[in-house]
Amino acid sequence: NHQYPSSEKAYRIVLAGDAAVGKSSFLMRLCKNEFRGNTSATLGVDFQMKTLIVDGERTVLQLWDTAGQERFQSIAKSYFRKADGVLLLYDVTCEKSFLDVREWVDMVQDAARETIPIMMVGNKADLLETALAEGQKCVPKHFGEKLAMNYNALFCETSAKDGSNVVEAVLHLAREVRKRA
Ligand code: GDP
Repeated sequence: NHQYPSSEKAYRIVLAGDAAVGKSSFLMRLCKNEFRGNTSATLGVDFQMKTLIVDGERTVLQLWDTAGQERFQSIAKSYFRKADGVLLLYDVTCEKSFLDVREWVDMVQDAARETIPIMMVGNKADLLETALAEGQKCVPKHFGEKLAMNYNALFCETSAKDGSNVVEAVLHLAREVRKRA
């Protein structure tokens, strides 16, 4: 990318997780600080760049969205193979998306050359309170924490809508990725 000096290494971060958990929205919040209520399934964008200061050093991230390719495992695997880190999202108001996290972790670890850092993200945290009040089945935070711990992954809850924890989640992952590089 000509925007950046060619000597600068960009770490590859791949977003994973079931359809509609908020991967595109998460990226849009991170890179454009925007949220759109109704995102179309695929915007045709392969990746976005984001520069963060991690431990005092300029760190360039190339963030890949697997939007629309969830069902094509071979494609997803080819993304994971080249990843330096993975953001694995589920929707805290959708139990199925949380149950599928195990499969995503397995797929990532199968495809990757070595163990790569994973940040497990419970997204749509802004909906939790209302969903619970309405008696909807949600994913308690400690379930997420426990699963992440089992996989030696990082964990946090975010909202692409109000922006809470989005940058923090990426920073935390970037720090871990840099440590291993
Ligand atoms: P993707 O298929 O994983 O890329 O998911 P999208 O980013 O397309 O999001 C699916 C739907 O959930 C869209 O209608 C988004 O507006 C909505 N959404 C995504 N993130 C959030 C969030 O943090 N809070 C709320 N309330 N809605 C969200």
